[in-house]
Amino acid sequence: MRPLLTTCLVLGALAACLGVTLTQRNAGSATPGAAASGQRPGVDRYAQTEIDQGDVLPLTAVRAPADTGEKAFEHVRTLVGFGARYTGMPGWTQQLEYIAAALEKLGLTVQRDTWTDRKELKTFTNLSVSLPGKRKDRIVLACHHDTKCTTGHPDAEHNFPFVGANDGGSGVGLLLALAPVLAATEREATIELVFFDGEESLDWKWNDAARALFGSKRFVKRQRDAELLGEAEPIRALVLLDMVGRTELHIQEELYSTTLLRRITWSAAVATGNQKSFYRRAEAASDDHVPFLDVGIPAVDLIDLKDNPHWHNATDTLDNMSPKSLQIVADVVLTMLPEIERAYVVKKN
Ligand SMILES: [Zn+2]
Repeated sequence: MRPLLTTCLVLGALAACLGVTLTQRNAGSATPGAAASGQRPGVDRYAQTEIDQGDVLPLTAVRAPADTGEKAFEHVRTLVGFGARYTGMPGWTQQLEYIAAALEKLGLTVQRDTWTDRKELKTFTNLSVSLPGKRKDRIVLACHHDTKCTTGHPDAEHNFPFVGANDGGSGVGLLLALAPVLAATEREATIELVFFDGEESLDWKWNDAARALFGSKRFVKRQRDAELLGEAEPIRALVLLDMVGRTELHIQEELYSTTLLRRITWSAAVATGNQKSFYRRAEAASDDHVPFLDVGIPAVDLIDLKDNPHWHNATDTLDNMSPKSLQIVADVVLTMLPEIERAYVVKKN
C-alpha cells in the first residue's frame, strides 16, 4: 500500500476521473504530480474529513486472551523464517501451507482461490475461512499475506533483503491468533477471515494500484458475481489489518475508510485505553479496502504507514515488532466487532 493524496473514481461507464484532495493532521509529502481537480463532499468512501475525537461511542472493552499478542508474534516469527513470500518464491508456498494448516487445526474449512493473472502471468492465492454467526450477513476481517518484492528492480536501492515482518507478516499472525478466539465466540454476524495475495505493487512504485491489490480486486469481483447469482450472502463491512505490530505502534486515521467505522475504531481505542497508539496522525492510504469501498461496502483500514521508517525497508524485521502492539490491535478489533455488528448487521435486519 502507499499513501495517496489523490485518487481516481471510476464511475460506471463514464469512467470519470476525479481527483480528491485529502487533508492531513500532520502535513506530509504530497504525491508528486498529483493534481486535485475537484472534491466530492458527501462521498463517504473518499471522505476527507477527520472524525471528531471528542465524539466517542460508549463501547465496552473486549479483551483478547492475554497471550494473543505473543501467539501472533510467534506466527510472524515462523512466517519471517520462510523468507520472501511473494508469488513464485519458496516462502510463498510454505506460507500458504502454514496458514491453511493453522486454520485447519482449529477445525475450520479453508477456501483456496488460486488463479493466474492473464496479463501478468503470475499465480496468486487468496485463503479464507468462515466462522458462522447467528446471521449469514458477513463481516470480513482481512490482511494481505504477500511481501514486497525487493529483487530485480532497475534501481539498486530497491534491491535488498526483505522479510516483511510487519508489512505482510503482522496481519497474518494476528488473524491466525484471533481465529480461535473468534471461533469460540457466538456472534451476530458470520465472520470471514480473508488472507489476500498480491497486495503489493509489482512495480516499485504504487502507480495507482495498476499492478497491485490483485487479491482484493479478485475477491470483490467474485463476491459481486456470486451475489448477482444469489449464491453469496452480502458483506456488510470490512476491517483490514495491515502493519499492526510495530513496536512504536501508531495506527493512523486512514481517510478513505468509512467515517462510521473510523469512529468505531477510535472509540474502541478509547474504550481499551489505547488512544496513544491510534489516530494521532491522519492520511489516506490506498490498500486492500479500496476495491470494497468502490462497490459500496463499508471498510476501515487499520494501518501503521504514515511516518513508519521500516516500511518497505530492510529494517521491517521481528526486532522492530512487539507482541504488545499486536495485543493492542487484538483488543481494539474485538471491541469494535459488536458495534460493527450492531450498526451494519442487526440494524439492517
Ligand atoms: Zn507493503
